[in-house]
Amino acid sequence: MTWSAQDVCWMTRALELALRGRFTTWPNPMVGCVVAQGDSLLAEGWHRQHGEGHAEVNALAQLDPDLDLSQATAYVTLEPCSHTGKTPPCADLLVSRGLGHVVVAMMDPNPLVAGQGLERLQHAGATCEVGCLEQEALKLNAPFVHCMTSRTPWVTLKWAQSPDGFMDGRTSPAVSAGGWAITGAASRRWTHTLRARHDALLVGMRTWLVDNPSLTTRDAPGPSPRPLILTHGQTTRPANAKAASDWADVPVLVHPASSASQQALDTWRRAGYDTLAMNQSPMTPAWWADLRKGLGCGAVLVEGGAQIAQIALSTSSWNELHVLQSLKPLGKGLAAPSLPAEPHARRKQCGQDDLRIWEQTVR
Ligand SMILES: [Zn+2]
Repeated sequence: MTWSAQDVCWMTRALELALRGRFTTWPNPMVGCVVAQGDSLLAEGWHRQHGEGHAEVNALAQLDPDLDLSQATAYVTLEPCSHTGKTPPCADLLVSRGLGHVVVAMMDPNPLVAGQGLERLQHAGATCEVGCLEQEALKLNAPFVHCMTSRTPWVTLKWAQSPDGFMDGRTSPAVSAGGWAITGAASRRWTHTLRARHDALLVGMRTWLVDNPSLTTRDAPGPSPRPLILTHGQTTRPANAKAASDWADVPVLVHPASSASQQALDTWRRAGYDTLAMNQSPMTPAWWADLRKGLGCGAVLVEGGAQIAQIALSTSSWNELHVLQSLKPLGKGLAAPSLPAEPHARRKQCGQDDLRIWEQTVR
């Protein structure tokens, strides 16, 4: 299908609007909507916040309810929904407002919608066209599409390193030494916006204890992900470890079912931590599927340390890899994992630091 310049123009605008929700809509997709008649923009809207109005609702709310929309077109980046979730179906709303034409970038992979939204519109007499800037729309919501079509969560792996390949200037930092930030404030903000796009954040026990981390999104809009601590289940909780109540969402110790020490785990449980016993080897597809089933997390950010990053790489567990690199060599320290052989997909400057991003959407 060939699209007119006008269609491409309005859908481009709808995608721009959708992107505004990137830190606040997860686990919902980002969606934008433009209502236009020929060259004239009538209204626009986007899904701002999980649990609140969809893009179509926000766009149509700007228009006089008596306005004749039979000659207008609604451009929506995702098939309008057909199910009643937190809001009534958008397909019904478009029908009730008498929209004559609807152009959709991509079909909704959500099994609750999957074609039914379009069917309702067509049944009511609206002309519908699908696929305008489809690749761009699929890319925008790749984590959502992954979650709707796979049992495993979307996984982002992230670490920071020096240009000579060290994650920390010390080879084995003492627990009491605290974290070592080798990248700057702009990188920290980037990390926080990345966290806002994930339900959970996975670190190793050592990182949890050494960094005593505040794994939050304080420099970004959007909620903080739930902390998950990957552990053998043998570590007793040190008296100075933070209490579970320091986090908005209770941290979870993810441990092997068979070899963990219940005594050690009890010391964490008494401080309010949750535990999740796993039967599979860490970061295998079955392990990820169990993690998602057990905790309901559709997107997980893996933040460290070196050993965990290495497991994620060797099991090809990641969909996105973000490597932040500082300017200053460290000379020695804790070695970062080797970077993937394939070239990075994107590059971005974060203050003085260099960010490279690898992407594999199919995992
Ligand atoms: Zn909707």
